[in-house]
Amino acid sequence: MLCVGDDPASKIYSANIERAGGGAGIAVEVVGLPADAGTALVARTLAGLADDLRVHAIIVQQPLPGGVSPSVVDGIPPAKDVDCAAAASLGLLARGAEAFAPCTPLAVIEALAAAAVPIEGAHVVIVGRSAVVGRPLALLLLRKCERGNATVTVCHTGTPDLTRHTLAADILVAAMGRPEAIRGSMVREGAVVVDVGVNRVDDPAAERGFRVVGDVAFDEMLGRAAVVTPVPGGVGALTTAILLRNTVRAAEARARQA
Ligand code: NAP
Repeated sequence: MLCVGDDPASKIYSANIERAGGGAGIAVEVVGLPADAGTALVARTLAGLADDLRVHAIIVQQPLPGGVSPSVVDGIPPAKDVDCAAAASLGLLARGAEAFAPCTPLAVIEALAAAAVPIEGAHVVIVGRSAVVGRPLALLLLRKCERGNATVTVCHTGTPDLTRHTLAADILVAAMGRPEAIRGSMVREGAVVVDVGVNRVDDPAAERGFRVVGDVAFDEMLGRAAVVTPVPGGVGALTTAILLRNTVRAAEARARQA
């Protein structure tokens, strides 16, 4: 896992992955670079990890500092790209032939499957079009398969009258990074709501001075939504589990080639 700079959210995420990896018997090595490392050093470090036979999987913590080109992740080879970050991996995903599906979007689909929510034929409305969540999730949901075949609407800040779209959703996925922005009045009764958001909000009463909330006003979903995923503990926890599963699959694929 390559971490550039000291983004506090990335540190928490890295620590979670180290802990979960340790529990699953997977060695997790955190390679840290300073925030001013620059694109060339990050690219060289990634090239070293790509060539290292001890390494089966590579992830780069996002967001990268401003001085590092986001396309540096294109240096992760598809066989080690367990979070589907590089352009080559995303291209395969768009073609419907991915090596590894991106972990957070796949966590959304696994959460729906675990709750026995049918995806085929459903109208899924995704709020958020980022390259790591909203867009790849739309691609996964469009695949012609049992866990796909959805009709997908993707909303963003340029969408007029967001509520008109969210009210039309059988399944609503919030991936906005806006604390509790999806209110009860924006959700149809009986809809399924998946909350991807992870936001810190100040809370003087909390031990650490903040608490973590999603993009959905959870309490307002109770008695309205048929299913709502919690934050923390919902999509985030599943994301880590899927990352480890992809890592095991990468190691198995390498072993088969040896
Ligand atoms: P991001 O890159 O900031 O993208 C946010 C998206 O939401 C953008 O497309 C933005 O639209 C849209 N948006 C923001 N406010 C909106 C509004 N009021 N109305 C409509 N659309 C709006 O964020 P991200 O990386 O996708 O992450 C989204 C959230 O998921 C964050 O809270 C993040 O912490 C969380 N996350 C969780 C996991 C996990 O494992 N659980 C993993 C990754 C991210 P524009 O494109 O028009 O700006």
